Amino acid sequence: MNDAVVVGSGPNGLSAAIVLAQAGLKVVVFEANDSPGGGVRSAGLTLPGFTHDVCSAVYPFGIASPFWSTLPLQSHGLEWMQPDVMVAHPLDDGSAAITRRSLEETAAGLGRDASAYKKMIGAVVRDWPRISRAVLGPPAIPRHPFALARFGMHALRSMQGLAASRFREPRTQALLAGIAAHGMMPLDKALTAGIGLTLGALSHVGGWPVARGGGQRITDALIAHLRSLGGDVVTSTRVTNIEELPPAKVVMCDLSPRPLLRIAGHRLPASYRRALERYRYGNMGVFKVDWALSAPIPWTSPECRRAGTLHLGGSAKEIAASERATWDGRVPDRPFVVLSQPTIVDPSRAPAGKHTAWGYCHVPAGSTADMLDRVERQIERFAPGFRDVVLARAVTTPAELEARNANLVGGDIAAGVTDLGQFFTRPTWRNYTTPVDGLYLCSASTPPGVGVHGMCGYWAAKLALARLLRLRHA
Ligand SMILES: Cc1cc2nc3c(=O)[nH]c(=O)nc-3n(C[C@H](O)[C@H](O)[C@H](O)COP(=O)(O)OP(=O)(O)OC[C@H]3O[C@@H](n4cnc5c(N)ncnc54)[C@H](O)[C@@H]3O)c2cc1C
Repeated sequence: MNDAVVVGSGPNGLSAAIVLAQAGLKVVVFEANDSPGGGVRSAGLTLPGFTHDVCSAVYPFGIASPFWSTLPLQSHGLEWMQPDVMVAHPLDDGSAAITRRSLEETAAGLGRDASAYKKMIGAVVRDWPRISRAVLGPPAIPRHPFALARFGMHALRSMQGLAASRFREPRTQALLAGIAAHGMMPLDKALTAGIGLTLGALSHVGGWPVARGGGQRITDALIAHLRSLGGDVVTSTRVTNIEELPPAKVVMCDLSPRPLLRIAGHRLPASYRRALERYRYGNMGVFKVDWALSAPIPWTSPECRRAGTLHLGGSAKEIAASERATWDGRVPDRPFVVLSQPTIVDPSRAPAGKHTAWGYCHVPAGSTADMLDRVERQIERFAPGFRDVVLARAVTTPAELEARNANLVGGDIAAGVTDLGQFFTRPTWRNYTTPVDGLYLCSASTPPGVGVHGMCGYWAAKLALARLLRLRHA
């Protein structure tokens, strides 16, 4: 008999499985897809010889994950590859605002904002060892209340408000707007500053790396480690009803509320079911494109050519307007685009001399709009001639994202909006536990939420172990 069953093999499901297996439990993970990893997989989506990241591609959270840094993932083949420029934000004058690994060098490129950047982002970088478990954890009494309060007073603000009050250069404001826009919320909303400050600081903590060979290598390393602890992963097994699962003391669901309700709704009390039904998925989804390229992207700015990740959207004002329009259900003509060009540091993903690119834009949740031309126009805006180097493209719509992974309702890659109203109560005030003994949630719909870090799984499994121990001693 298994001691624990995990439904779903995303980074949180695998992390939960590892924590349980480390404690000596016999663990099996069931995955609906024929390949494991959820949001952390790679595949040949375009032409022979090209490898693409199916979902996530860039790992500032992964390299900084307090849990993963304790695991021997490197000895299971994981290798982080760091670009010279972490984030580049091209502007219409042909220049770019950038972050590098070095805080000093980044600040030096921001003109009159150099000292403001060093002060504000530098404080988060310095405090990171003290605040990381709180930022990447459930609501709890903080171990370092002063450091957390220092972060919180800025983090709770909107990025638009923070940038306007603390920074003077339009290029700095644009850079921060692009980083904060990863939160998939309008930039005048509370907490968007926290997203920008955290991701901005991570440029200088562990960088924004890619994984050599593709994100799949992260999943492969997690699974290899799980197997070394006696656990297993079974793919092509969709759980449609928790009654089908083999008996186990712990059932850990790497699911967002809607798919959880589908497989376990009948076992849940009505009040908890209603709470899960009230959970809010984001107003924004994602329209994704992968490209096989004959050459590197011909960015006008030389710094963009050395960047792992690029944010395409122009000025802070323009990004704020397009994010607001998208949130309100309108399809923007010039959408905010996130782009990664992994082959500038990892040539193993394409035939010699060739390249890949990965990108997405925000769209209203569930939108059926074809954004390909608009996404490519945003790239052409800063890299004229881009279309001439495209050999092939693969498009993924919000509906396709959801069809491949039931957690991503409407193509919401965050599995639930991360605004103030839902930040501490993901997906309910119970966070990881449910009213059913032994049934837990560990997906990105629990704290700390979206991102490839495994911390939702870590905390959920720690809680399950503590409860098992209490039962044993009761
Ligand atoms: C297009 C895209 C781009 C992204 N880019 C980044 C990025 O660059 N960096 C970053 O840090 N994050 C990124 N993310 C977010 C990140 O991938 C997610 O936050 C993360 O994968 C969430 O992990 P998880 O374990 O909670 O769930 P998931 O990764 O969603 O995994 C859940 C798993 O459960 C399986 N499952 C669902 N229902 C069942 C069932 N009934 N039975 C069995 N299995 C089931 C699914 O098939 C899936 O494999 C991106 C996400 C997407 C979709």
